[in-house]
Amino acid sequence: MKENLEVLKIQRNRIELLHLMNIYTIEDLLSHYPYRYEIIEETLPSENNNKIIIEGKIIDQVKIFFKGKMSRMSFSIDYNGQVYQVTIFNRHYLRAHLKIGTIITIIGKCINKRITAIDIKVKPLSELMGIQPVYSLKDITTKSFLGYIKKALKYKQGKIEESIVEELRVKHQLIHRELALNNIHFPHSKEDIKQALRYLKYEEFFKFQLTMQLSKSTREEGIKKEIDIRKLNTLIQSLPFTLTIDQQTAVREIVQDLKDRNMMYRFLQGDVGSGKTVVSAIGLYANYLAGYQGALMAPTEILARQHYSTLTNLFKDTDVKLSLLTGSLTNKEKEVIYDDLENHHLDIVVGTHALFQKKVNYAKLGFVITDEQHRFGVEQRKALKNKGKQVDFLIMSATPIPRTLAISMYGDMDVSTIHSKPKGRIKTMTKYIQTTSMKPILKHLKEYLSEGGQCYVICPLVDESENLHAKNASQIAEAMQSYFKKQYHVGLLHGQMKDEEKNQVMNDFVENKIQILVATTVVEVGVDVKNANMMVIYNAERFGMSQLHQLRGRIGRGHQQSYCYLLSSATNEDAIMRLKHMEESDDGFEISYYDLKMRGPGEILGHRQSGLPAFVVADVFKDYDLLEITRKDAKIIIDKYLYDGSYKKQIENIKQELQSTNEYID
Ligand code: ADP
Ligand code: MG
Repeated sequence: MKENLEVLKIQRNRIELLHLMNIYTIEDLLSHYPYRYEIIEETLPSENNNKIIIEGKIIDQVKIFFKGKMSRMSFSIDYNGQVYQVTIFNRHYLRAHLKIGTIITIIGKCINKRITAIDIKVKPLSELMGIQPVYSLKDITTKSFLGYIKKALKYKQGKIEESIVEELRVKHQLIHRELALNNIHFPHSKEDIKQALRYLKYEEFFKFQLTMQLSKSTREEGIKKEIDIRKLNTLIQSLPFTLTIDQQTAVREIVQDLKDRNMMYRFLQGDVGSGKTVVSAIGLYANYLAGYQGALMAPTEILARQHYSTLTNLFKDTDVKLSLLTGSLTNKEKEVIYDDLENHHLDIVVGTHALFQKKVNYAKLGFVITDEQHRFGVEQRKALKNKGKQVDFLIMSATPIPRTLAISMYGDMDVSTIHSKPKGRIKTMTKYIQTTSMKPILKHLKEYLSEGGQCYVICPLVDESENLHAKNASQIAEAMQSYFKKQYHVGLLHGQMKDEEKNQVMNDFVENKIQILVATTVVEVGVDVKNANMMVIYNAERFGMSQLHQLRGRIGRGHQQSYCYLLSSATNEDAIMRLKHMEESDDGFEISYYDLKMRGPGEILGHRQSGLPAFVVADVFKDYDLLEITRKDAKIIIDKYLYDGSYKKQIENIKQELQSTNEYID
């Protein structure tokens, strides 16, 4: 039951402040947990820890030195009958209170009876001891906030329902929910906090796992597809290469899904260049052999074209009827494709979101694949799925994520992973240079171009107004063109250009009419230009690591040595560390793991779009064991529920929440 804050008799204007913090109900209020605690307890110096919190008596005059606005105070104290020297910086305003004989509490570091204090409180330790929660608050003091929490807890006393199934709560020796909520806000000891966190973390993951598994168990039945495996193998054998082991496994899993009665809901992940497109093409062919239409959706027109040409090539010796449907076709051309799809004159269609416009109707859609799904909105995915009933669904992504996270993000999906890249690839040589200009690499660039190579120059997206230091793509393109005069052609590619213009530029680059392509991240996905093996990335600190890796994946797709230069004048340590890491690592999984740890998943994938739930107390990485435990627990619960209707109440609650808050389960 959702009870609004009004019942707590909090003042109207205060309630409004709470609303600003997204706190609307009592439950919201109680689950606004502290993000850390300040713990004050007597701490004596010991061998392996020189941090102290002690009480002492001042025994001499305070000496104070100023240097500009900075100050240093020092004095002696008596602590347990011994003399200690205390120094503290920039607290001269305390001087008046620090008289001889005053009892104070000192927080700091102590080495050999010399204390460097980080804080001094003019109070005896006994008055300070305890645990103070620290909240993230807007315009409300901790004191008033704690007052509201107290009211809420009192109001709900004895009425806080368990959210964890009783037998699991007992099994894991978790405290009651009511106690957990009391203790998270008003702990008396570290143990209180620990037990409260144990409960709340479990609760958070458990709910999530129930949700995920519930949606999995209620998935509609699909269609059993009959696939002529001999014909499928003929296609696989006609490929100019042998599939890697991981590709073979992924193909097997996909084909199995198509054959099963269950509807496919699968996530295919693999590093850039690991060969996902081929795998998806084989899947589409299997679906075609079963007599169904397939659709492959890409986030950009350029990528759709690329896929289209890959598939055309792959299917050249088959009877597959294939088309490309994008926004830039004329209405007439589109009409033809619509007709062909409706009459099943087309087997496979590749395209952008033009694939699921209202006017598009499929005769017998059986399989939908989307590439780089996190660039699509949930609505778009739904729309495409709604074009057919019981459609098998595969999502491809080159933003590889560790399995742990794959489970938490796509807990209701099956996952296929391509770990290894095809043999014979040479690692891209990556160099981070602390600069804003091209100068240090001009020599190499000229050499490389004179040998016939092509180069990408990537600039971050910038508004003119936003940052004068960041390099702007069109300015760079102009500068480079005037530098190279007629010797080399420089092209420009950015998001504001019309699709036709973009395609023109990209084609010119593919055909080597352009040698230097200055671009924003629009080139990030997909396009294969084997002769382009150098990339220069301006203001590299502005990109996430996974994005840099993705960009870098545009080069080194052939058998030649490739080079990636990361230019950045950033001085903050994080940025430098990330860029240095890019020099060393070539493993998309490892990079995204590192990136996730440093920036958090939301930053990379975007909560809304990825459907990645934002865990509040639990941490997908640190609490991974718990994530697994709750996954298994939730499975048991759901299985029992489906078998004999046990736990109906809990499941109904989850279903309700699902309906009101979740749109990520189609
Ligand atoms: P992804 O979509 O995962 O980025 P692609 O499917 O575009 O990767 O494959 C990248 C390149 O590798 C393509 O040129 C493709 O033809 C080639 N390729 C794919 N699988 C193999 C393989 N098993 N052996 C050799 N080359 C392969
Ligand atoms: Mg690809």
